[in-house]
Amino acid sequence: MPMKYAIILPDGAADEPIEALGGRTPLEAARTPNVDWISATGRQGCVVTIPRAFSPGSDVATLSLFGYDPHTHYCGRAPLEAAARGIEVGPEQLVFRCNLVTIVDDVMEDFTAGHISQREADVLIAELNTRLNGKRVTFHRGISYRNLMVAFDATMANLQCTPPHDIPHQAVAEHLPRGTGAEWVLDLMRQARAILAEHDVNHVRRDLDENPATDIWLWGQGRPKPMQAFAERFGVRGAVIAAVDLVRGIARTVGMDVIDVPGATGFLDTDYAAKGRAAVETLESYDLVIVHIEAPDEAGHLGDAAEKVLAIERIDEHIVGPVLAALRTCDRWRILVAPDHPTPVGQRVHTRTPPPFCMAGEGITALLKRPFSESASAESDLQIERGHELMEYFLRA
Ligand SMILES: [Zn+2]
Repeated sequence: MPMKYAIILPDGAADEPIEALGGRTPLEAARTPNVDWISATGRQGCVVTIPRAFSPGSDVATLSLFGYDPHTHYCGRAPLEAAARGIEVGPEQLVFRCNLVTIVDDVMEDFTAGHISQREADVLIAELNTRLNGKRVTFHRGISYRNLMVAFDATMANLQCTPPHDIPHQAVAEHLPRGTGAEWVLDLMRQARAILAEHDVNHVRRDLDENPATDIWLWGQGRPKPMQAFAERFGVRGAVIAAVDLVRGIARTVGMDVIDVPGATGFLDTDYAAKGRAAVETLESYDLVIVHIEAPDEAGHLGDAAEKVLAIERIDEHIVGPVLAALRTCDRWRILVAPDHPTPVGQRVHTRTPPPFCMAGEGITALLKRPFSESASAESDLQIERGHELMEYFLRA
C-alpha cells in the first residue's frame, strides 16, 4: 500500500501573544482538538521558510514548504500567479502583480480596495486595457483585487517594488518603485489613477461607503522559471486545493493537479467544509493532497484577533478533522500542518520569525506531547533551518 499524505497550510496562522487573548497567540487561544492531537501524538518544531536573503512573502515561504529552495527557484510572485491563470509570458516580457488599491492623501489606506467584488474588478481591468492599450501592456483579471499586468518589454529587470500589504496606513511616497524602469511604472500608475478616478464603479463604491479602487499598485514582477516536477522530485503524485492564484500557480509550475472547489474564496468567508470534503475526495485518487487556506493571513492583515481565532478553529474542525479521520482509515498515512509565516495581528504584516509546524503518522514518534503552539514548537529539538527540506523530511524520514 502506498503511503497517503496530507499537508494543511493555514496561511499566516502563526502569531505572537496578544493581550486581548489573555496573552495567548491565536493558535493557542483557538479550540483546535485535531491539530493538537497531531502535535501531541507526533512532532512539532519550527521551520525557516524565509531564507535571510528574502523578504517575508507568501511566495518565498510557500515555495519552501513545497520543497523548492527559493535561492534556486524564486522568480517573483507574479509569474507564479500567471501560471495559475494560464497566461503565457514571453522571454522578452515581464509580468507584474497589479493590485487594485485605495490610496487616500498619499497613504495606503487599503491594499484590497475594500476586497472589491469580482464583477467590479473585471470592469476596471477591462477599462484599463482599453484606455492604456498604447502602452505595450496587457492587464489580466485575477481574483478580486489581485490582478496581473504583462509588460511587453522586460528591460526593467532591476526594479524594486514594495508589496502594498507591507505598508498599511503608511505614506506611499517612500515605497514607490525604484530602479531601472521606475519612471515608466510610475507613469503607468499615474495614468491608471486618472482613469480610475472618474469611473462609475468607483462612484458607486463611494456612494455605498466602500473603499474605491483609486490606484493600481504594481509589484512582485518577474519572469517564469521552469521547476522540476514534484512527482519526479519526490516520487509522490499530489494535488493541491487552494483559492489563491499564488499557491495554484506554484502547483501548476511543479506539475501538480489543482482541484477547484466551489465556494473557496481566499477570504474569511471561504467554504471551509467544502475544502475539507474536496481534500478527502482527493485522497482517494492521489497519494498527497495539499490544502491551502488564506483566511488566517487575511485576518492578520486586518488586525482582527477574533477573526483569526475563528479561521483557525474552522480549519481545525472542517478541514483537519475530516482529513485526519479519512487518513486514519488508511493503512499508512502522514499529516503535516504548517503555516507559511506569521502574520501577527498586532503588526498586520508578515514577519520572518520561523513558523511552527506539526506532523503525525507512520514512523513519526512523539516528541513533546504538547498542544500545537509557537512557544512549544520553539522549544522542540526539531528546528529545520533550510525550509525546503521539511518536505523531504515529511515524505521520506
Ligand atoms: Zn502567506
